[in-house]
Amino acid sequence: MQIQPKYDVIVIGGGTAGLVAAIQAGRAGSTTLLVEKNAMLGGTMTVAGINRPAFFFAGDRQVIGGIGWELFCKTCVETGRPVPTSAEGKHHMYCDAAIFAALADEAALDAGVDVVFHAMPAALTFADRAWTVQICTKTGLQTVRAGAVIDATGDANAVGIAGFELERPDVVQPATLTFGCSGYDPDSLDWAALKKAADDAIAAGELLTTDISWRGDGPRALLQKHGHNANHLRAPQAQTSEGRSAVEIEGRRALLRMYRFLRKQPGLEDFRIDRLCAEAGIRETVTIKGKTTVTTDDYESGKFYEDAVCYAFYPIDEHLNDGMGINARPLKEGVLPTIPRGALLPADSRFLLVAGRCLSSEREANSALRVECPCMAMGQAAGAMAALSARTGTDPEELPMEDIRAMLREHGAIIPGDSTA
Ligand SMILES: Cc1cc2nc3c(=O)[nH]c(=O)nc-3n(C[C@H](O)[C@H](O)[C@H](O)COP(=O)(O)OP(=O)(O)OC[C@H]3O[C@@H](n4cnc5c(N)ncnc54)[C@H](O)[C@@H]3O)c2cc1C
Repeated sequence: MQIQPKYDVIVIGGGTAGLVAAIQAGRAGSTTLLVEKNAMLGGTMTVAGINRPAFFFAGDRQVIGGIGWELFCKTCVETGRPVPTSAEGKHHMYCDAAIFAALADEAALDAGVDVVFHAMPAALTFADRAWTVQICTKTGLQTVRAGAVIDATGDANAVGIAGFELERPDVVQPATLTFGCSGYDPDSLDWAALKKAADDAIAAGELLTTDISWRGDGPRALLQKHGHNANHLRAPQAQTSEGRSAVEIEGRRALLRMYRFLRKQPGLEDFRIDRLCAEAGIRETVTIKGKTTVTTDDYESGKFYEDAVCYAFYPIDEHLNDGMGINARPLKEGVLPTIPRGALLPADSRFLLVAGRCLSSEREANSALRVECPCMAMGQAAGAMAALSARTGTDPEELPMEDIRAMLREHGAIIPGDSTA
């Protein structure tokens, strides 16, 4: 593959939102370039090891479908797991990250998408109804033009580089470095003794409480879940390379403290790290200032936006900035929030969209909207809008909603308000 000088659509960031956006644009017939800084598609779900996509279902009702659901189902089939037909009491659904990433590559290439890893945008300018994007590749800068750009970096990096306003909260949720560990039998460990030893180590300054838990229960959850989503790391400014570097280094420092502590405990002498995710999972950085902002009231009341492009269904889930605990609030019975097109469009921008956790939203609403299934659904909506915009020369804000919804329906997405949804 060679990067071409011109595309209909450029998607920046290939996480849950960006990979779906690129596949949707490609399947709609747009020439599409997907620019990803890592070496794998899937973002937080694959590279940061958070492979429990939530929520495709609201109880028995499927609320998110389309390309994200298709890839999830293919992963289930490929790995011999049953395809769920409802939440079956388990809204977080396990998904093999390695196979999902490989199937995502395949789907992107089948859709004709040019995928370039190890690349990031360096500059974005808009003139003559087209974007010019400078991409920093391993061999230098390359200049590419596109009819529409989708920022799916999670951090609104492209929108920020293009000069549009971002919302930077005073505090952000902590990050988490996931790993896999073994070398012990959880059923034979003395949890009370381990908690006491951890409290002593924390008092002695050898360990931070958040190195082993964000629940305040000592190393129990970490050991029972074999390192999945166990610690909390402060993550201010993780949208920048410098801020992100600080989080990654602190994550591995925390890992070393935890490792040294656990290996000294009875039953954990052979404790070992089998797998370390290549990067920490980031819950929150910045959001765009959008043409519409999803407020927490709108989210929790299940506001039906006129320009709704997809559903989202997840409780408020704000991991607290001081490191311990969660501000969690379930949605009331029967509430099914929607995501409006306007929350994916940076204010004052043209032919520029976002998809994923940096959508325009208040903090508590964002703590729910950021999960993987709504990100996939937003990605598909953004991909469809970008494809239609590039094809017709119409800004995404001016596209008839019926055209957007028709394309989404054609590609299997679930549209708010449809009787089948
Ligand atoms: C610890 C933790 C636990 C979570 N638990 C769950 C859970 O159980 N279930 C659930 O559904 N959700 C969970 N979430 C939330 C969810 O995983 C993320 O919010 C979601 O994956 C975000 O998707 P995204 O596509 O917006 O961003 P990401 O998945 O972060 O994807 C962004 C992509 O863009 C790339 N990128 C970033 N910057 C650039 C750049 N400048 N240039 C090029 N590429 C770039 C990244 O490498 C990445 O591939 C959790 C999150 C965390 C951190």
